[in-house]
Order: sequence, then C-alpha cells, then structure tokens
Amino acid sequence: MIEVRLADRVRNLPPYLFATIDKMKQEALAKGVDLIDLSIGDPDIPTPAHIVEALRKAAGNPAHHRYPSYEGMPSFREAVSQWYKRRFNVQIDPAKEAISLIGSKEGIGHIPLAFINPGDIVLVPSPGYPVYPVSTLFAGGEAYIMPLLEQNNFLPDLDAIPEDIRKRARLMFINYPNNPTSASATEEFFEKVIDFANRYNIIICHDAAYSEVYYDGKRPKSFLEFQGAKDVGIEFHSLSKTYNMTGWRIGFAVGNRDVIFGLGKIKTNIDSGVFQAIQEASITALNTDDMELAKIRMIYQQRRDILCGGLKAIGLSLTDPEATFYLWVKTPKGYDSSAFTALLLDKCGVLGTPGVGFGAPGEGFIRFALTQSAERIKEALERIKRAL
Ligand SMILES: *Cc1c(COP(=O)(O)O)cnc(C)c1O
Repeated sequence: MIEVRLADRVRNLPPYLFATIDKMKQEALAKGVDLIDLSIGDPDIPTPAHIVEALRKAAGNPAHHRYPSYEGMPSFREAVSQWYKRRFNVQIDPAKEAISLIGSKEGIGHIPLAFINPGDIVLVPSPGYPVYPVSTLFAGGEAYIMPLLEQNNFLPDLDAIPEDIRKRARLMFINYPNNPTSASATEEFFEKVIDFANRYNIIICHDAAYSEVYYDGKRPKSFLEFQGAKDVGIEFHSLSKTYNMTGWRIGFAVGNRDVIFGLGKIKTNIDSGVFQAIQEASITALNTDDMELAKIRMIYQQRRDILCGGLKAIGLSLTDPEATFYLWVKTPKGYDSSAFTALLLDKCGVLGTPGVGFGAPGEGFIRFALTQSAERIKEALERIKRAL
C-alpha cells in the first residue's frame, strides 16, 4: 500500500466555501423539501433544436471521428471570425487570432501556464469566477485581489493597485458582463485597462461569457472593440450561456496573436481539441438568426423583471442587471451572506449562492440565478415574503 499524498498545489487550494451550503442542500433534498434552486449558473432552457440537429448529422460523418486539429477546424475559426465581424464589427484573423477551447473554462484554466513564472502576479477580480485565482495558483503565480465594490459599480479600482504590484503583474483577468455581480463595464473602464496594460506590460484576459445575455436591447460591447485592445490582450468566449450549450464543452479565445499562440502551445501539449462534430454544430450555432436568441433573452428578461420587482417589494436591495442571468442582492441587516442563504434554504426551500463563496469582497450579497421558470420564481417570492 503506498501513501497517496496530494501535491502542494492541491493542498494549498483555497477552502471550498460552498461546502456547508452543499451539505444543507443535500439534507433538504433528503428530507423531501420542494427545493427551488436559484444557485445554478446553468441554463434550464435546452439547446435550440437546429443546433442539436446539426450535431446529429455531423456525428454520423466518419471524417469527424478522428483526432481534431489542436487549434480548431479552419471552418470553425472562420465562423468565429465572421460572428465577431457581424456582432462587434471587429476583424479577427481566423488563422492566427482565434483558437477553439473545450469550454472557455479550459482556456481560463490554462492561460497562466503560458505566461506566468513562479512569483509573477496575476490581477484577479473578487468576487469572481473561482478559476482565475486557482489557475494562477496552479501556474505558481500569486493572485493579487482586485475587489469589486458597490461604490465603484463593481469595477476594479486600478488606481488603488500599488506600484510594486503593477510592476510584477504579468496578466489581468476581467469579466463583463460580470458573474456574480451582474455589473456591466463602462467604455472608460475598458479604455483605462488598455492604457494600464500598455504602461505595465500586462496581458489582459477578458472573459465575455455573458456578452449575449442582455436586457432592454442594451448590447454589451466586446473588449476588442476598443482602440489598441488587440495589442494587449484576448477575449474568452463561450457557446455555453449564449446558446444554452453548457454540456457541450466548446468555447474560443480571440485577440492578440502572440497570446493566442502561447495558449495554443500549452493546449497542444495537454489536449487534442474539440470533437469535430461539436465544432460543426457550433458553426450552425454561431450562424443562428438573432430572432432565435432574442426569444431566449425575452424569457430571462421576464424572469428578471419578476424577481427584481418581487425582491424589492419585499424590501431587499439590488440594482437591476442590464446583462447576465444573475441578481446580486444585498443581504438584510443582521445577516451575512452564509446566514441569509441558510435562512432562505431552511425557511423557504429557496437556494441562492452566498456572495462570500466568490471571494471575501462578495460578503454582504447573495446571488440568485434566473435559471428556473417564471412560475417557480413567483413561488420562491411567495415563500420569501411569508418568511421575512
Ligand atoms: C459559465 C462561465 C464560464 C465558463 O463557461 P464554459 O462553459 O467553460 O465555456 C466562464 N466564465 C464565467 C464568468 C462563467 O460564468
């Protein structure tokens, strides 16, 4: 019998803050509670039928059964480039400035390996997607936390980053529309980021997973629409949230060719690309008529209006999101985010996500995902109203 010992990088992982809530959820389910789970960032709406049909067709083609190319099929990267042109009026060279990913999480998880040496700093927003600090840690880097605070409209305050940190920083993650705060970025912010990156030689990685989940016709901009963005960084994109394809595992990165090249180097040595039939179906997805997506957005918008309105009527405080399928709600006086989450689960059978689980600066907030039907959201509101 050998002694199986975890590597330091695994042992040094930050504590999993959702563990207590997960346990409470399992207990509630075991007791037969009719749980309304608003904690999941995973669309409940199925992938549009024409995309599923495209996969069915492509799956039967033996040409797709062999190893795919590492960087993605030329036709997939071409479709990505055309989508960027149509949606953002941004020119992407499909040969050098685009790469397929096994979901954008995979690219975010790998990119520090390409550019971070032990001791280098990565600027990481918090609260935020947990993969940013963890991928930093796995590459031997040091995460410097940029708190996303309400008084700054949940944008990082670049001026507050000390000079010695700026000089050691090699890479910065940003994410707008933002998970979990649901905040959108201003144009001034993106311009400031580009200037900052140029001054300190920092690679910018913008995670744009929610660029297509927006409301009231307010379409978010791509980071790459801004002057000089391609000189300093890349944008991560995903088909997951846009086309309800979280289970398919496909995304892409576009932008600065040297950064794309570095990410590709890592991937060539670790994975062998995305199943070509999925890439084929994704080309169909990227060419989806916008009317189809507008229908999905309307479903979320209706849910957003019901939940925002209802929570405010109950006396909770939040800003209506312009994008993402999340609400970032202040916990009432006397409750931290874990206590309030536990109360809602215990008294109402309604599950949210405690803000602190996304990083310490997320304390004082709870995240609700709009990934349940309008009927279930109304039912959740009724129960919360009765309990508070
Ligand atoms: C969902 C999500 C992703 C990852 O999506 P993939 O399914 O891996 O493409 C990336 N970033 C954020 C902020 C997300 O919420």
